[in-house]
Amino acid sequence: MSWDLIGHAWAVRLLKQHIVDQRPRHAYLFVGPESVGKRTLASRFAQALSCEAADKPGELCGVCRACRLVPEGTFPDVEHLAPDPSIQVDDVRALKRRLALAPYEGPWRIALLENFHLASISAANAMLKTLEEPADKVVLLLTATAQEQLLPTVVSRCEVIPLRGVSTATLSLALQDRAVEPEKADMLAVLSEGRPGRALRWESEPELFERRSEALENLNEALISDIRGRFELADRMVGRGKLPVQRRRVRSTLETWLSLWRDLLYQGYQAEVPPRNPDRLPAFERVVERVVPAHRYGVVKALSQTLAAVDRHANLRLAVEALMLKLPAVP
Ligand SMILES: [Zn+2]
Repeated sequence: MSWDLIGHAWAVRLLKQHIVDQRPRHAYLFVGPESVGKRTLASRFAQALSCEAADKPGELCGVCRACRLVPEGTFPDVEHLAPDPSIQVDDVRALKRRLALAPYEGPWRIALLENFHLASISAANAMLKTLEEPADKVVLLLTATAQEQLLPTVVSRCEVIPLRGVSTATLSLALQDRAVEPEKADMLAVLSEGRPGRALRWESEPELFERRSEALENLNEALISDIRGRFELADRMVGRGKLPVQRRRVRSTLETWLSLWRDLLYQGYQAEVPPRNPDRLPAFERVVERVVPAHRYGVVKALSQTLAAVDRHANLRLAVEALMLKLPAVP
């Protein structure tokens, strides 16, 4: 049975080879944008490391306990730490105690630490010790959206697996294999920026796709509003609810904005980069006409910085308000 992963064929080959050679690294760092497939790839790797009945090393049998339980997150040899909202030092300490035990069932004890860029500094430092003094039979799998957001000492002790967006053609075909209509598959592949997780979520939950429309309508509103209107919009964008929910909401809106502003920037330079939001560019044509490329670049930079600030637990409202001040007025 194959790993059934959309794209990232080179990474699958590399990881399978590490299993075939029976020399997995002590730690891996899967880096890439949200929904690109980091956790799915890490989980398949954990499954392949633990599978007991594959025809060949590195493959999956699909029926053994590991193959059934790893994807569910209930296999006893695969620990799973997901930040809520972020990994804390106590989580890491408890994990280290569990990792010190011998594997229960499979050959390896594996820990999957999601979004490690959100881990607290003390948690990252606590993890460093484990990375420096690897225990026998332990494989650590970290995911992060950008390696610059991690301690360099953490990165240097991991085999880094950088994942980029999957090509539009590959993603579209994979969606069609999952019974999505060809035309819709093409559209989702482009608009999701080659992120399989996002395309699949949009396919199964159309209301999430609606949120993209809402985000772009918000952007248009910001461009035509005065400061007061923009601050009211910032307030609505952050919304109510618990901090992790607010952060996800702001993050998703800003990612949509960033994707569109990149398109607007490239349009200005007449670069031969296919736009990510071809359906929405006409609505923002006036920005290309009236905002000089340097200013557009400034917005792209401000958006990236705001996204990083949002991840760093900045005050969300302040971060969005500061961004609002940097957007051009384009009525
Ligand atoms: Zn199996």
